[in-house]
Amino acid sequence: MEQSFVAWAKMRAHRLPQVKLGIGDDAALMDVGGTQDLVVTTDTMMEGTHFRSAEVELRRIGRKLVRVNLSDLAAMAAEPEAVFLSMCVPTSDKRAADWIASEIYEGVCEVCEQHEVALAGGDTNCWDGPLVLSLTATGRVFDGQVWRRGGAQAEDLIVVTGPLGGSITGKQFDFTPRFDVAEQLRGHVGVHAAMDISDGLSVDLLRMCDASSCGGILELDKIPISDAAKDLVETSGKQPVEHALGDGEDFELLLAIAPDSFAEVQEILGAESAIAVGEFTSRTGLWMREGSRIYQLTLSGYVHGR
Ligand SMILES: [Mg+2]
Repeated sequence: MEQSFVAWAKMRAHRLPQVKLGIGDDAALMDVGGTQDLVVTTDTMMEGTHFRSAEVELRRIGRKLVRVNLSDLAAMAAEPEAVFLSMCVPTSDKRAADWIASEIYEGVCEVCEQHEVALAGGDTNCWDGPLVLSLTATGRVFDGQVWRRGGAQAEDLIVVTGPLGGSITGKQFDFTPRFDVAEQLRGHVGVHAAMDISDGLSVDLLRMCDASSCGGILELDKIPISDAAKDLVETSGKQPVEHALGDGEDFELLLAIAPDSFAEVQEILGAESAIAVGEFTSRTGLWMREGSRIYQLTLSGYVHGR
């Protein structure tokens, strides 16, 4: 439902020339005069859908709320600047609403301090519904240095910045947004497109391919699989690579890198943070290569035609 709604919303939205990039990327890009553009992103987390506050420390939920937004800024090559926090706090919880709000707030503040980001405003309400949290983050990027999803070209390498899968065992809360990658590669002409991996490599790669009007061929044996994903196999009954393709909330970056720039990118980031897992192709859709044969991949990572 979400993608078709986003497509409609993008079409329906009122436009102004100062919005250089609107709905559909990791963040919006606004011309605010001067040499830098303003980058804005927002994310909501809900009790029951994104967390269970009886099972996860409230401060940890607050930390994640900031990190998911900062990850979107890193995906745009932006430098983070400020966040705005809105909370709808339940009155029906046996814990005091003030205490719930202050614990979330402490978690948000911790990550803001870590990344030198200002907490610049927000809104707090009490209601008889569940805990709902929303955060908007802003950053800056020099005109012309922003990374978009739509710049991948046929023959670019599909590059990920770290091991994937199994984030449910902890990484979904306790990750570091990849600002290091943004800082080291910002302005590098070899980076054609970027986004963060929030919904799983296969889903997010397809989004980048669609935005770039191209396709992607993955080489499954090159995909870096996290130790957590390998451990999960014992209980999930899936293949490790299925976790790496489909789990989501990895918050690594997915990059389209010009083939002649890859060696340099790998030298800048280190081999463990620049892993080529395939290449973009003019044939739209998602594919996997095995030997000399190419198969179509479905979004869940299940392989057709085997
Ligand atoms: Mg994103």
